Amino acid sequence: MIPAQQILQDTFGYPNFRGNQAQIIDTVVQGNSAFVLMPTGGGKSLCYQIPALMREGVAIVISPLIALMDDQVANARAVGIHAAAVHSGTPADTIRQIAEDIDSGSLKLLYVSPERLTTEKFLRFLDHTTVSLFAIDEAHCVSQWGHDFRPEYQQLSLLAQRYPHIPRIALTATADAQTRLDIKHYLQLNDAAEFISSFDRPNIHYQVIERQNGKKQLLDFIQKQAAGQSGIVYCLSRKSVEDIAQYLCDSGLNALPYHAGLPIQTRSQNQHRFTHEDNIIIVATVAFGMGIDKPDVRYVAHLDMPQSVEHFYQESGRAGRDGLPATSWLCYGMNNLMLLRERIQESSVSEQQKQIELQKLNAMFDICETAECRRVLLLRHFGEESQPCGNCDNCQHPPIRFDATELVQKLLSCIYRVGQQYAAGYVINVLRGKADDWITRNGHEQLSTFGIGAGLTDKNWRNIIRQCIGQNLIAADVSHHQALMLTPAALPVLKGEQSVMLRPLKREKAATQSGSLKSQWLRTEREERIWQALRQWRLDQARSENIAAYMICGDKTLQDIIRQQPRTLADLPPIYGLGDAKIAKYGQAILDVYLPLNGQEAGG
Ligand code: ADP
Ligand code: ZN
Repeated sequence: MIPAQQILQDTFGYPNFRGNQAQIIDTVVQGNSAFVLMPTGGGKSLCYQIPALMREGVAIVISPLIALMDDQVANARAVGIHAAAVHSGTPADTIRQIAEDIDSGSLKLLYVSPERLTTEKFLRFLDHTTVSLFAIDEAHCVSQWGHDFRPEYQQLSLLAQRYPHIPRIALTATADAQTRLDIKHYLQLNDAAEFISSFDRPNIHYQVIERQNGKKQLLDFIQKQAAGQSGIVYCLSRKSVEDIAQYLCDSGLNALPYHAGLPIQTRSQNQHRFTHEDNIIIVATVAFGMGIDKPDVRYVAHLDMPQSVEHFYQESGRAGRDGLPATSWLCYGMNNLMLLRERIQESSVSEQQKQIELQKLNAMFDICETAECRRVLLLRHFGEESQPCGNCDNCQHPPIRFDATELVQKLLSCIYRVGQQYAAGYVINVLRGKADDWITRNGHEQLSTFGIGAGLTDKNWRNIIRQCIGQNLIAADVSHHQALMLTPAALPVLKGEQSVMLRPLKREKAATQSGSLKSQWLRTEREERIWQALRQWRLDQARSENIAAYMICGDKTLQDIIRQQPRTLADLPPIYGLGDAKIAKYGQAILDVYLPLNGQEAGG
């Protein structure tokens, strides 16, 4: 049997296992079952693909989405693994061919939907087949608590009963405690080895800014930090998707819209271009992304705050799956928070559910407003304690805070004195001593708080109000024109028992990150030229084969070529991501592009 380490090198072209991949593979190769919880991009596929190559028979991989299956099959084939998928769209003669390939023992991986697997016909077929293992991908679909419940997944319990001697490996990237219990219960994995990875995505840089002119801020970010790279921009509504995509195109960028209102053909065309090319920006509603397996997404930008940390983690996690530097950029504003709160309040769910959702929303808002390391807060949300990361905006440019107790007391008492009946604009006018008709009609120019905040601008006060809402000192009453109200936490502040620290009111422009994503490693103009040429070659090659550019090879492989300066085919095997199959197929072509640019003769 070829050792796992050697398959990793020869087939996948990677020098080392990541995290606990090696132990997981070992467990399954030995014929034991495993439960694997690993964040997106962690490298789950290898955990069953390598055992599939090492064990006798065909591995059955259960996967919930056709797009996901087709992608995985294309990926496996690209590295020379014989893989296939059966689903509702598979033609009959392909199925016949698959059956033959299983018979002859050449097919190593078969992807199948849960519905198909659990048909009696398919099971009878399996009864007479040597199965190396069952891999249950996206295993959280088994749970009603999860976010993608699929009832058919629960029937997979039959695998344990019908095939007790075949190892099962369940894999997922998201599972809270309840979902984990469900997975173990329904897939009968209570005795299986459990492998839980850290949820940290160290290569993702987190950057959060307050919204001023969202569009312009987004354009700025893309142009300064991520020009020419693949990225996803998330917006809340279809209208803003269209609007932003147009704006980015008008600014000379390659942006495409994606939302459920577009004709299906446009959608799949845009998605295809995004996954297959390496410099497209997709502007989408959050529905986009599930099942899209593109490793070289260099940034995910949120133009609106997500409704929970779970959503944020999943969406931002679509960046940098190849492990190279990537950015999660988020722009948030008060209106955004208000709108989301309102949506929850007005939804038809139970009061208890509303409270849960408001809490989730607040946890997300805390991450936006925090002056601490964003990653520490993010991981804490998933029950993981960590140290300041050094790779988020707050770690790199710690925000300064000042003691704003006195200002906040002025605000709180003004809200109290106008009877907790008025929205921010009104309260600010009273504070700044601007008596409009409304205020005089109410006699509020007589209040002791009238004019006590004249020293600050309207914008300053709005900022203070926002921060106070963020710290839960005040709340806006959505059922009453957003009237500002005090929360119980405001009392100790009013009484002078507790101080309040706020971020500076007039913030300097957020410092831009040192350099852009691409220039972090390119040193010379020559390297840049080679990089662009190799990317162009990869794109042309991908088009001619009608597969995604990343399936030819990842950015890290191109970088490694530039770094290692190969001269002949014999220099290629140590290069990251180049296994035997890819060297045989593309090695010469890569050298033909590379060598002349590096001042050497082609054909060496
Ligand atoms: P997941 O399914 O966990 O989201 P994938 O299996 O798609 O992640 O892997 C993400 C990327 O990481 C892929 O491009 C994969 O080839 C790569 N990868 C996996 N394991 C390793 C490893 N040990 N070394 C380098 N790259 C790896
Ligand atoms: Zn940090």
